[in-house]
Amino acid sequence: MIYPMKLKPVLKSYIWGGEKLAAKYGKDGGSVAESWEVAANASGSSVISGGEYDGMTLVDFLAAHPEALGTEAAKFEFFPVLVKLIDAASDLSVQVHPDDAYALANEGQYGKTEMWYVVECEPGAGMYCGFKRKVTKEELAEALNNGTITELLNFIEVKKGDCLFIKSGTVHAICGGVLVYEIQQNSTLTYRLYDYGRVGADGKPRELHIAKALEVADTSAVCRPGEDVKQLSDGVELLGACPYFTAVAYDTSRCTSTEVTDRSFSAFTCVDGECSVTAAGNACTLRRGDTCFVPAGAGEVSFAGKATLIEAKV
Ligand SMILES: [Zn+2]
Repeated sequence: MIYPMKLKPVLKSYIWGGEKLAAKYGKDGGSVAESWEVAANASGSSVISGGEYDGMTLVDFLAAHPEALGTEAAKFEFFPVLVKLIDAASDLSVQVHPDDAYALANEGQYGKTEMWYVVECEPGAGMYCGFKRKVTKEELAEALNNGTITELLNFIEVKKGDCLFIKSGTVHAICGGVLVYEIQQNSTLTYRLYDYGRVGADGKPRELHIAKALEVADTSAVCRPGEDVKQLSDGVELLGACPYFTAVAYDTSRCTSTEVTDRSFSAFTCVDGECSVTAAGNACTLRRGDTCFVPAGAGEVSFAGKATLIEAKV
């Protein structure tokens, strides 16, 4: 049976997480750093909530109903995307992800490209993304040695609704005071360059991966908010696309339907407001912070209410 399946997320607590996901986005618990809204991998799986498949993990559902993935998503050996809500109360480590070629040759895994949509932020908050200017690997290595890398990094002050597309190889960090919707290629490969001299819960500094990070860092990378965003129609914006994922934002007060074809599933996350989502005659209500999964081939999906929804698909 096809219906919009609400997903119960996998929650992760890390030292840098804040209280907003629990206080304002309907997540359980106190401090929640990451809420994995659409996850189907070894580190965690979302669980379907309600309807015929209530209680089933997304991993088990997709194994039993592979057609729900869609023809494009089924081309990958594993579920291609991971969607998270991330509440950064303090800065995340400065990191870089390798591209597929490097990752497959050296780690036997895929690399990672990711995209952030700013759900809310405090005044003056932002992220590091690429460098202020082209730097050399030697300069970068020296700055890491001296603990001065943040002086080289491009700090982008953000506002609600900003979108940043982080290609693999781009050195980046989400900084404190920002709550983002993140969609990423489903990979855990992260090389940490700098952690502000902090120590983890065990009193020890977290591991850095300087040599590999220097190999994969694109030292010419400068990126600007919104450079990939395209208006598709009234109330519909393409936020970013790559072979692994496509993200589209809907303002449901201006756009009341879309199509979920047999090419890919769609997962809709409500980042503001409230609306109902109807597929194949079945409806669910999404409040701020909720996500539903719509199987590929569902056809027309309609929205009623006033919300900002972000669609993740392949
Ligand atoms: Zn990252």
